[in-house]
Parts: sequence; C-alpha cells; structure tokens
Amino acid sequence: MTIYNFSAGPAVLPKAVLEKAQSELLDYKGSGMSVMELSHRSSWFEAIIQDAEQLLRELMAIPDHYQVLFLQGGASLQFTMVPMNLAQGKKALYVNTGSWSKKAISGAKALGVEVEVIASSEDKQFTYIPELPETIDQEAAYVHITTNNTIEGTAFAKIPDCGAVPIVADMSSNILANDYKVEDFGLIYAGAQKNIGPAGLTVVIVREDLLGQTEIAAPMLDYKLQADNHSLYNTPPTFAIYIAKLVFEWVKEQGGVAGITEQDRVKAGRLYQAIEESGLFQSPVEKDSRSLTNVPFITGDAELDKQFNAEALAAGFENLKGHRSVGGMRASLYNAFPIEGVDALIAFMKKFEQDNG
Ligand code: PMP
Repeated sequence: MTIYNFSAGPAVLPKAVLEKAQSELLDYKGSGMSVMELSHRSSWFEAIIQDAEQLLRELMAIPDHYQVLFLQGGASLQFTMVPMNLAQGKKALYVNTGSWSKKAISGAKALGVEVEVIASSEDKQFTYIPELPETIDQEAAYVHITTNNTIEGTAFAKIPDCGAVPIVADMSSNILANDYKVEDFGLIYAGAQKNIGPAGLTVVIVREDLLGQTEIAAPMLDYKLQADNHSLYNTPPTFAIYIAKLVFEWVKEQGGVAGITEQDRVKAGRLYQAIEESGLFQSPVEKDSRSLTNVPFITGDAELDKQFNAEALAAGFENLKGHRSVGGMRASLYNAFPIEGVDALIAFMKKFEQDNG
C-alpha cells in the first residue's frame, strides 16, 4: 500500500533527499565518517553550513544586509527571542490569526513587554486573515504576523505595509512556498520541520540593523552573538543542517521558489476545487485567505469526519486528522508532498461521498 503523509510537521521530505542522505550516511564524501559524526568545527561541516546558507540566500534572494542564523529551540523559542532582542522598552504589535499567534503573544507578555493586538480574526474562529489598521504606531518595535496558520489553514496573500516598523514573521509553515520578498520583513523565523528538513533546526533571517540594540544576559538567546559566531557559538544541529542543505539543493532543482510555488498552487488548487465541487466536504476558510500548504476541510458532521479519518488512515492516508483544537481533516501539502498523493486523496474523497453522501 502506498503511504501518503499529510503531517503538519515533522512532515514529508523529498524522496531524492532521503536517498542521497542514505547513500552518504556511512561515509560522507570519502571522509570515512558519517555526517552525524563530523566535528562541527571540521572543514567538512563548515562547507555544509556555508553551502546551506548560500543556497538559502539564493533561493529566497536574501540581501547582504540580512543575517541567516541556524538555531535550535524550535519556532517556539522565537516567541521569546524576538521580544527579548527587539522590543527594548518599546511596544510590540501583534496580529492574532490563530493558535501559534496566540503563543507568540503570550511569549512577549511573559517577558513583561507591552503588547497590542492590532488585528485579529478570533471573532470568526480564525477563518480569515484580518486587515491591519491603516495607521500603524511608528514608535512600535515591530509588527508580528504569522504568514501561514498551520492549524487554521489561512495565509497572508500579501504582506501588509507597516511603514518604518519592521515586520517580524513566523513563516514556519510556508517558508519556501510563497513569493514573499525578504525586504518586506525585519525578521523571519521558521521551524525546519515542514519545508526545510528535520525537526531540531530553526532558521532565522534578520536585518542587520536590528541586531545588538540591547544587552542580552543569556548568550544563546542573543541574535547578535549567534550572528557574530556564524551559528557556531555552540554545537549546532549538524545533521538537520546537512539535510536542510540537501532540501535547498532539491528546491533549486525544482526551479527554485517560483517553480515550487507553482507546483504548490496546482496541488492546493486541485484539492480546493474538489472540495468546492463536493456536496459533502467544505472548507471552513474564506476563499482569499486560504493557505496553499495546510488545507483543512470538514463534512459538518463530527461523526462523519471521524469515520472519514478512520477509513482514510486504513487506506494509507497518514496524519489527515485535523488539529485536536479544530477537528475535521487537514491535508498538509508542503513542498515535498507529491501531486499523486493529492489525486489519490481526491479520488478517495469522491468514493467516500458516493458511499456516505
Ligand atoms: N509556528 C507555527 C506557524 C507552527 O506551525 C509551529 C509548529 N507547528 C510552531 C510555530 C511551533 O514550532 P516548534 O514546534 O518548532 O516550536
């Protein structure tokens, strides 16, 4: 039976990347050692981390005045590091678009930072991306947005204009899957385990002028110190960085971010169309706010959703169950998810509708 993995993260990786890692696993390029066994100070690993950074710079067209950091602690640690490093006694503005935004907000509040939620979609269970107010307090430290809401299945189609106030983005679930411009952000962060590689690595892209504006007592939490040490202040997650490098090479082979985004549009487009045409399944998300990477759908009957999830699992569709906070179903269609899996799911949904509609 073919298994299709719809997990929201850790998620499917390109098969070609796994095969390459397998072929190099025991002996990395004639070193006689596995990548996992290489010193992070060795020339072997230095080349890996430098290539990974260079490839990401190329793929996302990251300008020179931005630093690329490879950190740990998940996207969740960024909920603390961002306000700790950037708020410096100023007010921090947040857009509340769902569970992860809420956690980001809590992270800032826990540090005693003054937080203002300037837009929210909580009034309609986070089923849309709200408009930002026309005027943004230009004295604020930053505006925090979650570009793609993994659980709710919404995404910013366009990045708002906040004037001189830097936008900080949690891009965990749609980094390398959209045509956003890095210059529109002051800082971007993303946990790796969706579109980049295995869990354990967090990528941060930060504009240089935002670094070093405040004293940070904990060295590991200081962006400036991490940047000055090229992410090698301590032992980084070497194997995860190696896989990330292979994934970046793979994205490049797919025609870069433009090429892969085109594939993502086709994949998500097919599934949304099937949902639209169905008499049984519906999307809870407003049309112009829909995510390309996380596609939630429901029947409107919790029992039927449960039955669908059970039958889908038995047929090889793994991890389709919606997040426990929202229920229903969710197909995560990250870059490495194959289009055949989308077609197979659509066929399965049609059959289920015939039998149960
Ligand atoms: N932000 C978003 C948008 C996410 O999807 C996730 C994880 N699913 C997180 C933050 C938390 O990431 P981590 O588990 O790497 O801390």
